Amino acid sequence: MQPEEDTEVIAETTNYMERESLEMDVVFVGAGPANLSGALHLTQLIEKAKSEGADLGEIQIAVIEKGSSVGAHILSGAVMDPKGLAELVPDFLEKGAPLESEVKEDQFLYLTPKRAIRSPLNPPPLNNHGYYIVSLNRLTAWLGEQCEAAGVNIFPEFPGAEMLYGENDRVVGVRTGDKGIDKDGKQKANYEPGVDLLAKVTVLGEGVRGSLTKKLIQRLGLDKGREPQVYSLGVKELWELPDDRYPAGRVTHTLGFPSDQWTYGGGWIYGMQNRVLNLGYVTGLDYRDPLIDPHAEFQKFKSHPFVAKLLEGGKMIRYGAKAIAAGGWHAMPKMYADGVLIVGDSAGFLNAARLKGIHSAIKSGMLAAETIFDALLESDYSSKTLIEYEHRVKRSWITPELRRYRNFHAGFRHGRWLGMANAGLQYITGGRAWGILDRDQQEPGHEAMQRLSAYGYHGDDASQKYKDLRFDGQLTFNKVTDVYHAAVAHNEDQPAHLHVLDTNVCSTRCAEEYGNPCQRFCPAAVYEMVETGAQTSGLHDVNGSPKPRRELQINFSNCVHCKTCDIMDPYQIINWVTPEGGGGPDYKGM
Ligand SMILES: Cc1cc2nc3c(=O)[nH]c(=O)nc-3n(C[C@H](O)[C@H](O)[C@H](O)COP(=O)(O)OP(=O)(O)OC[C@H]3O[C@@H](n4cnc5c(N)ncnc54)[C@H](O)[C@@H]3O)c2cc1C
Repeated sequence: MQPEEDTEVIAETTNYMERESLEMDVVFVGAGPANLSGALHLTQLIEKAKSEGADLGEIQIAVIEKGSSVGAHILSGAVMDPKGLAELVPDFLEKGAPLESEVKEDQFLYLTPKRAIRSPLNPPPLNNHGYYIVSLNRLTAWLGEQCEAAGVNIFPEFPGAEMLYGENDRVVGVRTGDKGIDKDGKQKANYEPGVDLLAKVTVLGEGVRGSLTKKLIQRLGLDKGREPQVYSLGVKELWELPDDRYPAGRVTHTLGFPSDQWTYGGGWIYGMQNRVLNLGYVTGLDYRDPLIDPHAEFQKFKSHPFVAKLLEGGKMIRYGAKAIAAGGWHAMPKMYADGVLIVGDSAGFLNAARLKGIHSAIKSGMLAAETIFDALLESDYSSKTLIEYEHRVKRSWITPELRRYRNFHAGFRHGRWLGMANAGLQYITGGRAWGILDRDQQEPGHEAMQRLSAYGYHGDDASQKYKDLRFDGQLTFNKVTDVYHAAVAHNEDQPAHLHVLDTNVCSTRCAEEYGNPCQRFCPAAVYEMVETGAQTSGLHDVNGSPKPRRELQINFSNCVHCKTCDIMDPYQIINWVTPEGGGGPDYKGM
């Protein structure tokens, strides 16, 4: 089925201005490992078919990326299971794929506030022998080069801003973001309208909580009958060490301090080349305590005697943060519809028990490519052909891997120890929750957060929770200093890309009930409640005195595109949309 020439293209907004449209065959939205692997594999399949005499004509493949370059917005751990890459580029070692080190040593530690207790056994999902420590930023840039060499058109600084639909909600492409709009929404001298990229198949590989993917899932009901996706937030720094105290190839994972037992979380410490230490902390975005601040949790993690000693005399050189889709198998949406496929983290392919998603992102991109290749041969881009993508996923090694851990995250809503027991039982029973259930239920993470009063807090002063935490500028850093090390840049004369649907809620209900948790869950100091002096809020402090009204100020230029606000806002009134192309962090070496 060819896209009908006379189909009316409908965008999601009412912005009907004249725009250029470009006809491609396949458009991949997002230049992450999933989509780059998809684009590269598609060129491989086309080349092979052509060499066998197939007459496919010129197939136009485009990858668009919101970052300033391929890899600029990519942040990961990362220990990579190489099986995906080995299928895509079997000679990746000879071709010079940038790998930091093969994993030579795994450690698993339980941290009490003062001690680090090494487990005699590494939990099987965290056995990393034969894998590679990588900078995913570098590996992605390298994959981008492989794609370009194979003839793929890559367009950095081009955010996918809206889906384009034809009749019956068939996806017919994507509209890229306008450039040159000022903060009041007016066109500037450098104004350039976004382009309508029309495609037979559009592949959404936007990573976790994709802004287009979210709307597509809602519009087409692709999550019907699935568990809600749940997320974590990884906050990370790179440090330069003065000596070889932590060798490249050593991998440490931790459990315990500083998380309380109701908060899913853990730390990682990976040795990279040139005495660079890569460390971070994951906090489940389904925590209960409204005063939790994932950035502060990470700073506390570094102040643990074991970690602080490792960092002594070192220098922090990079910072970043990004959400992780942790819901697993039961939270994956339907991954196809007419004219569209969803790959990688956007579809929730990550295995949370292993904290690994690169290998499955690569594989999902490859399976999407194989499906698109068949669709091109049959000239049918409807669900009838694209459903094969899900069938391929089910036949591949992804399915047994994800099914084995399908109830992993859900168990942790009963606390750390029951969660661990559940994880152990699942491992033995091939994924059954509590050893018996095929499917355990999850609640959306933002619903787990309790009100300040339920937690016994008086007001929202975070020092009630983090009274011992100091930002000394040596070992521990405040958010603003950290954000500086994420090399974030957004043109400030543009509309904020964080849409808060009703800011009055922030000054009233949210202030009272949760103490404006956006100020804490955002790891980049984007959200600030400021006193305007204009009015009282109608709220009272613990002594009964009236509290001044505070208004939300959005420092959007700090945003590191982690998506936490879109996920964790208790009222779900924050909508993250793409800013002007090229804006955001620059995660070199992360
Ligand atoms: C803190 C952390 C630690 C992790 N550790 C590991 C690990 O050790 N091992 C492992 O295997 N996995 C790990 N993962 C998971 C792994 O990074 C992901 O599974 C993997 O990167 C998913 O690839 P992807 O291509 O689906 O998405 P991403 O890597 O997120 O790439 C998506 C790309 O799309 C772009 N994009 C998004 N929206 C748009 C849009 N609308 N228009 C244009 N471009 C867009 C983004 O800028 C980005 O470049 C970790 C993840 C995190 C966050």
